[in-house]
Amino acid sequence: MSEINYGYIVDYIRALHTPPQNPILAEIETAIAMGDETWPIIKPEVADFMKVILFMVKPQEILEIGTAVGYSSILMSECLAEGGHITTLERFPYMLKQAEKNIKKAGLEDTIKIIVGDAAETLLTLPSEGYDVIFMDCAKGQYINFLPECIRLLKPNGILITDNVLHKGAVAKSRYLIERRQRTTHSRLRDFLWTIMHTPELKSSVLPFGDGIALSYKIGGTENEN
Ligand code: SAH
Ligand code: MG
Repeated sequence: MSEINYGYIVDYIRALHTPPQNPILAEIETAIAMGDETWPIIKPEVADFMKVILFMVKPQEILEIGTAVGYSSILMSECLAEGGHITTLERFPYMLKQAEKNIKKAGLEDTIKIIVGDAAETLLTLPSEGYDVIFMDCAKGQYINFLPECIRLLKPNGILITDNVLHKGAVAKSRYLIERRQRTTHSRLRDFLWTIMHTPELKSSVLPFGDGIALSYKIGGTENEN
């Protein structure tokens, strides 16, 4: 089982989740639930959490690292401030094609802009302090490398939400219990979590639901940094 919490608790929380009104989101969820597709979208309880945070922030500009089929982009677009935008980064052509199709079907071509390519390069081209919210949901081994760019790109008082930080719970286990081929990801995720908890510009919290979420706040100009 890939859940990090007791199954009965996850089942209970998911039973409380209201299916999305947006037909494109519902279509993607159904295709996955029926086993027709294995697209790696955020879990329902993570979707609910993101909406709460985003409605609180009312972002003008969101950056997403890892578009996949556009599910989380379309979901987040419902929480933007008026005239707001999402910039989302994807490197895998198959995903890109699906995302373009879904974003077009949802009529969101003017709101959601996909930038094709490896985020390692794309991030360097984006404007400093340009984003109210960054959602990082790409290759987990790269989070630690992308973190300095995320901090540069966030506006003061901005929010970084990072998905899959507990990697099915493996991150909390001793590295000796981790399969050899997973050890690099394990140590990089640990490095990422340690760093967000000890970086003076950030206040962070690691939340054990979904596949593990990290919520980080970039200290603004006026806060007491303690
Ligand atoms: N946020 C999406 C799911 C993203 S899955 C949702 O919840 O709906 C992760 C995606 O990140 C995959 O499609 C993968 O191709 C992409 N990805 C991983 N590493 C990347 C990188 N370095 N640059 C760009 N895209 C990347
Ligand atoms: Mg994810």
